[in-house]
Amino acid sequence: MTETLTPKVVEPTLFELSSPGRIGVTMPEPDVPKADLPPAHLLRSDLPLPELAEVDVVRHYLRLSQFNYSVDGGFYPLGSCTMKYNPKINEDTCRLPGFLYTHPLQPIETVQGNLELMYLLQEWLKEISGFAAVSLQPAAGAHGELTGVLIMRAYHKSRGDHKRIKMLIPDSAHGTNPASSGMIGLQVVQIPSDARGNVDLNALKAACDDAVVGLMLTNPNTLGLFDENIEEVIRVVHECGGLVYGDGANLNALLGIVRPGDLGFDVMHFNLHKTFSVPHGGGGPGSGPIGVAAHLADFLPEPIVGILEEDDEETPPLFGFIRPAKSIGRIKAFYGHFGGGMVRAFTYIAMHGAEGLKQVAQHAVLNANYLLARLRGSYRVPYDRICMHEFVVEGRFEGSDLRALDISKRLMDYNFHPPTNYFPLIVPEALMIEPTETENKATLDAFADAMIQIAEEARTNPDLLRAAPHNTLFGRMDEVRAARELVLCCWLPEDYSKPLTDEQPASLGER
Ligand SMILES: *Cc1c(COP(=O)(O)O)cnc(C)c1O
Repeated sequence: MTETLTPKVVEPTLFELSSPGRIGVTMPEPDVPKADLPPAHLLRSDLPLPELAEVDVVRHYLRLSQFNYSVDGGFYPLGSCTMKYNPKINEDTCRLPGFLYTHPLQPIETVQGNLELMYLLQEWLKEISGFAAVSLQPAAGAHGELTGVLIMRAYHKSRGDHKRIKMLIPDSAHGTNPASSGMIGLQVVQIPSDARGNVDLNALKAACDDAVVGLMLTNPNTLGLFDENIEEVIRVVHECGGLVYGDGANLNALLGIVRPGDLGFDVMHFNLHKTFSVPHGGGGPGSGPIGVAAHLADFLPEPIVGILEEDDEETPPLFGFIRPAKSIGRIKAFYGHFGGGMVRAFTYIAMHGAEGLKQVAQHAVLNANYLLARLRGSYRVPYDRICMHEFVVEGRFEGSDLRALDISKRLMDYNFHPPTNYFPLIVPEALMIEPTETENKATLDAFADAMIQIAEEARTNPDLLRAAPHNTLFGRMDEVRAARELVLCCWLPEDYSKPLTDEQPASLGER
């Protein structure tokens, strides 16, 4: 494997750009009395900061940001991640001063608008999903899962049912599902998929007994397929006393068409940062509200937003916080990610309305099926049927040792973000492709053309793929070495930028 760790364009660090005495701001004389400094032994004398003008810093960071790939910059078919375009009006609303400058400890009378927004968002998510109650608190999808499995366990315990310790999870589930169950000490039992990519009903029936907490089902699953026996799956789990958790991260495919609550799911999380266009991928803020059926509503984390005093003719309703009767407690400081998550998602739902959300799902599914149809002749499709918002192909060719990674790296030369690689695990050399509804036919065709061209190159010039990417700032990384010898502070004085040895270098604070 080629290993080109030297960038083709070398961007100077801020330290190299630094020039002694150059400054960005001039501090005014203080208009308050000077305080004494802490004792000398607590002071640092030689903090090595670069000296630059504002324009130097702006240009440096803008240039660095342009080396990144972004959804505003190009097609981003990263399966399971729903990298749809995020409308810019969301950015206006979440920066409205009344939303931006509130403090979570303000008296509720002063934040009625914010509380009303949260209340309406809860109501809308209930209507979209068919659940009886919603909490907006969880900070991300996986955090919503953790909240959900805590609720499932609390429900069984409240009924004096203490022997339930197993969580059933299909092999087509998202990886966070077994992780969330394992985190609270549940035993994860894997359920295989059948030949059509559905949950294997016989295996499910065999695993269902009185030790089952429930089933965690990603639906559509990570193959992009809707389980054709969904009602039967849910019935079987309920019959043994278990609950059914729906991983709703991929609600993009179902909006306005089918409601998980109506199908019989007991609890589900939403990913506001996928389905409802909250930007993600750079580390947050995520937002993973959960919805529950009526029999679980009392277990929701506290607090949720409710109406404390109903309105009458003269006075508007008073919104405030309420504690569900058997609440599992708090799972996050304050109320969840308000501005970055909830206001953006609220805006997105309000702008689309019910009919618009339905079109989101229809176009997301149409786009995925169009791409699948165009790629079918060039790539093997392991579970080949009408897909939902995404699909999975095999990134390998008969008689060739080329791998999914080689295809993805080559795609970068065509200026596309690669699809999700090597996931789900049940497909060898998996390439998981999710176009989303925000792409037009020309973009989908350009991507399909590139993929088909790459399949052709694999036959005629495989070395082109092996050595890819050729047109990017960095060549093929040694990903193992990058993880083992992580260097996060390449700007630090020389001894800090060396690869880590057994002897850890002194921390900056000790210098
Ligand atoms: C993204 C995703 C998750 C996890 O969501 P995070 O916000 O990244 O924690 C869970 N399940 C599925 C199906 C997903 O696509």
